[in-house]
Amino acid sequence: MKRIAVLGSTGSIGTSCLEVLDGLRDQMVLVGVSAHTRWQDLAAQTLDFEPRWAVLSDAGLADSVSTSAFASGTKLVYGADELSKLASHDDVDVVVAAIVGAAGLQSTVAAVEAGKTVAIANKETLVVAGPQVVELARKTGAKLLPVDSEHSAVFQAMQSGSKREVKRIVLTSSGGPFRGATREQLEAVTPDTALRHPTWEMGPKITIDSATLMNKALEVIEAKWLFDLEPEQIEVVVHPQSVVHSFVEFVDGSCIAQLSPPDMKLPIQYALTWPERMECPGPKMDWSSVWSLDFHPPDRDLFPALELGFEVARNGGTCGAVLNAANEVAVDRFLQGQLKFVDIPRVCRAVLDAHHFDPSPSLSELVRLDVWAREETTRWKSSRST
Ligand code: NDP
Ligand code: MG
Repeated sequence: MKRIAVLGSTGSIGTSCLEVLDGLRDQMVLVGVSAHTRWQDLAAQTLDFEPRWAVLSDAGLADSVSTSAFASGTKLVYGADELSKLASHDDVDVVVAAIVGAAGLQSTVAAVEAGKTVAIANKETLVVAGPQVVELARKTGAKLLPVDSEHSAVFQAMQSGSKREVKRIVLTSSGGPFRGATREQLEAVTPDTALRHPTWEMGPKITIDSATLMNKALEVIEAKWLFDLEPEQIEVVVHPQSVVHSFVEFVDGSCIAQLSPPDMKLPIQYALTWPERMECPGPKMDWSSVWSLDFHPPDRDLFPALELGFEVARNGGTCGAVLNAANEVAVDRFLQGQLKFVDIPRVCRAVLDAHHFDPSPSLSELVRLDVWAREETTRWKSSRST
């Protein structure tokens, strides 16, 4: 039995992961789950799966939690440090990194340090510290398996050839809810409309990232580190149906794509069962009706976040940590009505420009810069806002 710990089990990826694990009970066992605040959902998961550990990372909630709601065989522990203990525990084989944001960095690094197989949904970890994490994995023998649908598609398509035969990869993007919008329409975007994604159901942060195309920017950086590519080998194409999850183009011109309905259960399961494939509870393609697939280039002027991703992928060093922290705070401030939608890439640009660049920072330097960039972004006021 493979022993699985799901960090961020109450989120969108986490709950899809538990659905997948429900279908794999004969070969995998869920030994650990975690939430930050939604302890009732966490408690319900322990009743269903009876894991050995449940971590509530917001230790401040300890007094308000009703421990009797948890399975009697589950040990409930509190605080962010417990996430890293779980991620590196000897009795865990696979860690699903499904916490949102840089909050997932410490536990993902702990899993890599302990040489685990890490099914990585938490792309922010690779944006903040891609080279450090990849180098650590090389040293410890940890495996980093992509969960992000585009990167899972690339990973699957890569198996059609060798690494040196790869010419480039093409990441697909739905274009988000504002595909084809005008500049005036983008100026007026509210959190409510930005949270309505046309093809994917996801947590709020990545849903806003998808609307600004910052998600694709983060994915360009994620792909660079996961697949050891030059930024020039990464392209982005808008594909509104979200059925083709990405392509790999080989040196002979052959493009290999992976297709499936837009649902995360398949890429999550593939990361858990790789190198094998198994029946999956996700929806399947229906080829019985007429439909078409569209592709067009992204509008880089209207969505400047995308270019930031390429720039950060080219410059590396401290840029990823700064971009990520600025974006996390900007998304938060937008959701609270403090910033306009179009301010998100603007503040990221401003904070990136203001930071002191270091081409080869340590992990602790990246953590310090994360704090600095959050403070800068919190203070930032748009000169263009009325
Ligand atoms: P959600 O917001 O739905 O879930 C986030 C999870 O992380 C929850 O379990 C949440 O706990 C926990 N969490 C939140 N803040 C903290 C914190 N400070 N410390 C520890 N745990 C925390 O996010 P998603 O599932 O949408 O996304 C998770 C990751 O997967 C992100 O990195 C995202 O980019 C990536 N991803 C998501 C996809 C999707 O389809 N959703 C697709 C591809 C990648 P609580 O429930 O208590 O708040
Ligand atoms: Mg994705």
